[in-house]
Amino acid sequence: MAQRVAVNDGAPGSKRTSRVRVAVRLRPYMDKQDEKGEGTCVRGLDPQKLEIINWRNATETLQYQFDVFHGEQTTQQEVFLTSVKPTLPHILNGQNASVFAYGPTGAGKTHTMLGSQEQPGVIPRAVKEVFRLVEAQEEEQDGWDYSVGMSYLEIYNEKVLDLLSPGSQDLPIREDKDRNILIPGLTHTPLSSFADFDTHFIPASLNRTTASTKLNQRSSRSHAILLIKVVKSQRGPPHRQQTGKLYLVDLAGSEDNRRTGNQGIRLKESGAINLSLFTLSKVVDALNTGAGGRVPYRDSKLTRLLQDSLGGSAHSVMITNIAPEYRYYFDTFSALNFAAKSKQIVNRPFVRETVLAPTIAPGKRAREEREAGGSGEPQNKKSKEGKKAEQSPSPPVHPHSSPDSSVLERLLALEKMMMGSAERERLNLLKTVAQSRKEIQMLKEKQKELEDKANKLNKQNEATEKDSKDALLFKTDLPPLLRKQSTAAKPRKQQAVVTPLQVSQVQPLQQSAIVCKPSQFLDKKKRIQTKVGEGKENGGADPPSSDEVNWESHLDSALLEQSRKKILQTLNSGSLKDLKSLQLIGDKKAKLIMGWREINGDFTQLEDLKKIEGITVKRFSSFIKANILSSMGK
Ligand code: ADP
Ligand code: MG
Repeated sequence: MAQRVAVNDGAPGSKRTSRVRVAVRLRPYMDKQDEKGEGTCVRGLDPQKLEIINWRNATETLQYQFDVFHGEQTTQQEVFLTSVKPTLPHILNGQNASVFAYGPTGAGKTHTMLGSQEQPGVIPRAVKEVFRLVEAQEEEQDGWDYSVGMSYLEIYNEKVLDLLSPGSQDLPIREDKDRNILIPGLTHTPLSSFADFDTHFIPASLNRTTASTKLNQRSSRSHAILLIKVVKSQRGPPHRQQTGKLYLVDLAGSEDNRRTGNQGIRLKESGAINLSLFTLSKVVDALNTGAGGRVPYRDSKLTRLLQDSLGGSAHSVMITNIAPEYRYYFDTFSALNFAAKSKQIVNRPFVRETVLAPTIAPGKRAREEREAGGSGEPQNKKSKEGKKAEQSPSPPVHPHSSPDSSVLERLLALEKMMMGSAERERLNLLKTVAQSRKEIQMLKEKQKELEDKANKLNKQNEATEKDSKDALLFKTDLPPLLRKQSTAAKPRKQQAVVTPLQVSQVQPLQQSAIVCKPSQFLDKKKRIQTKVGEGKENGGADPPSSDEVNWESHLDSALLEQSRKKILQTLNSGSLKDLKSLQLIGDKKAKLIMGWREINGDFTQLEDLKKIEGITVKRFSSFIKANILSSMGK
């Protein structure tokens, strides 16, 4: 009886968790439907980097770094040699490996995994290589026998179906005591050669469930999983046995299925596909961030099946396939974020030099792509013209300029979902900013204190010079501080007038709120009027509602209206950052506003804000007041 040996990457008992290596493959531009000549939205920069236009701001690009970037000209052989071949020898040593093709339908997953007669992909190349390695070992007469076998299955609607046994029912996934994942009842076909593999694999491939969708006539809606098993048995005692598994996976399309117009049963399929892909995303994330937390393998069939071949001591590669055409923008963006959440960089300086927003000259891009080792689409060849090259006569439509609000909404939702470490970094930065603001505020308060003292002194001086009646008149009709400042702190006198008002407005609600600059106020008169109103009625206590009426009534109604409009516009179309730049809106409120906007659409009036959780009538009033005063000065 053979003795099973648990292999743990040369370190028995170790719980080493390996990363999933991530490669990205950009297929050539081939959009025949692209009558508008929109060009590409993504390009390679070097063998690890690529960039995509930033949908939020087309003058920027987002750069991503991966373990490998395969440009448009990369051959099937190159993909195999760089991303797959190095993992194969491990299979002969009782270790597991997995290779996935991820990406939207039409981006080249099947081309990468299966390929064609003329351009065979990863699957035929890997199987051939496994046989070659086995033969080489056998020639060496190392005392072990090797046997190779295959299983082929698909996960469709969260059901595990055997492609080598058509008509089979959903198969269960089990785990043995050594933590190996098994599928009892799954056909295992022994293979004697590569030719043997072909005869079993090709007809089985035709059993795959494919359904036509708007996106692609032969869109795959299931995950196709080929398992190649190499069992290594020791000829002599103690007759040890090692099993190595290689999973070659052509995943279902990662596209957002709302766009395919899927209905009914298809929608259910979409949900199921998303569950497996969504879980895969979480698993890859957990493995690659190495947080040491739970890896949610059990949350979907796909990840459960791959549990012993993804992470742990297994060797895993994910080839993210992307398409360059603009019409794939959303799917490309989400696929890249899936593959590299924390590697996103907004690269302004580069963009200013080379990819000016409305005029990403296809010729220039193509040239750069060629320089970067890619091919670029030579649809609009242009000579080197320095800056002129940026002024393309046919500016490509970039997603930011497209008024497709549903895409924008989904991008926002995606961004929200993707708030990973990049967001954490941003929050840290915001914390630092908040800290600096606090310090500035403290300094301002200190300054105000000093200014007040100086004013008092001045008043006393003046009181001795003039009679008390004059002093009273002076105080109510004119901005006294301005005048008197001239004898106190010179360069900061204006600030001294305004700061106390701002502090008193903002402090009761939110200590860390941004203190407005003096220039944000309309004119001296209004400032004083407001201040007087504030001082009399508010007095630092809870503001009564009459206060709101009062301060507004001091302002020019046209300007007031304009300012309300401006705020409304920010509420409706502002980014998270824009929202947070509003007075009294922190991260949490900004997110709530975005969430409300996604669910309910645009705010029709500022008062809609009161419908948001946590924004009380009082808070709303303070919000309006602080923002109107602030925006009117801008
Ligand atoms: P997916 O499986 O992701 O839906 P396919 O592999 O079917 O995408 O690719 C869509 C089309 O693009 C196919 O006609 C395929 O031959 C072609 N294609 C994909 N990638 C490449 C590539 N790297 N080079 C040439 N053609 C490609
Ligand atoms: Mg496919």
